[in-house]
Amino acid sequence: MKIDVLTLFPGIFDAPLGVSIVGRARKNNIVEILIHDIRKFSRDKHGKVDDRPYGGGPGMVLKPEPVFEAVESVRKGSAAGCPRERTILMTPQGKVFCEEAAKEFSGEEHLIIICGRYEGVDERVSEGLVTDEISIGDYVISGGELAAMVVIEAVVRLLPGALGDENSTIEESFSSHFLEYPQYTRPVEYRGMKVPEVLCSGNHEEVRKWRRKEALRRTAKRRPDMLEKLELTEEDRKFLICHSEERSDEESQ
Ligand code: SAH
Repeated sequence: MKIDVLTLFPGIFDAPLGVSIVGRARKNNIVEILIHDIRKFSRDKHGKVDDRPYGGGPGMVLKPEPVFEAVESVRKGSAAGCPRERTILMTPQGKVFCEEAAKEFSGEEHLIIICGRYEGVDERVSEGLVTDEISIGDYVISGGELAAMVVIEAVVRLLPGALGDENSTIEESFSSHFLEYPQYTRPVEYRGMKVPEVLCSGNHEEVRKWRRKEALRRTAKRRPDMLEKLELTEEDRKFLICHSEERSDEESQ
C-alpha cells in the first residue's frame, strides 16, 4: 500500500511514523508513506496557502490551488488512474472513523490524506478531489495531522504482515463488534489484586469461555449500543441473561 499525506506541517509525522508497528511496516515495505508539504505547491512568491473567507468571518481558509496541485502531483506518481485509490480529507464534519472504515481503507492500494488547518479547507477541494471526508470524533482539533495519524495507525496494523501475530487483530476490540476481554500479565498478584485463576489454569476451553463472557460483560456495560450488531451464540445469550439479572439485582440493592 502507498499512503501520501498532504500537510502544512510535515515535521509532525517524523516521530510517530518512525516507531513501533508503522515504523516496522515501512521498513519491511508493507507500506510506503510519503509526506508532502502543501506549501511547496503554492504559486505565491511568499508561499502563501491561505486566504480570508468569502462572506467574512474569522480566520483563514486553505486555498484550493495548492491542494489540487499537490493531489494531482501525487496521483501522477502512482499507477495511472489507480482504481483502488481513495482521497481522504480529515475534517470534523466527516463520517466518524471506525474499525470498519479502517478495514475498508486497508484493502485499497493508494490513500491520499489531506490535512486541513486554520478554519478549514476551501469547499471545492471536497467537491472536486475528495472521495471520503473523515472525522476522528465530535470535537475540533487545530489540524488534520494527528487525525491523519490515527487513520494511518488503524489502517497499517491491518495490513498483512504488519503485526507479528495475525490473530491479534481478530480478537481485538471492535474487530468482531465487541470489546476485548481484560488482559493480565505477570506478576500473578500485585498490591493485593490477583489475576483470575482460570487464566493460569492452562485449561484452554475454560480460558476461552471466560474471555468470551468477560468480553460480553464489558460490551454490555460500557457499550450497549455495540451489542445490537453482535451475532450471538446460544452460550452468549444465556450469559447475557444471567448478566442482566445480576445487574438488576445490583441496581435494586
Ligand atoms: N472550522 C472548521 C474546523 C477547522 S479545524 C469546522 O468548524 O468544521 C482545522 C482542521 O483540523 C480541519 O480542517 C481538519 O483537517 C482538522 N480537524 C479538526 N478536528 C478534526 C476532527 N475531529 N477530525 C478530523 N480532522 C479534524
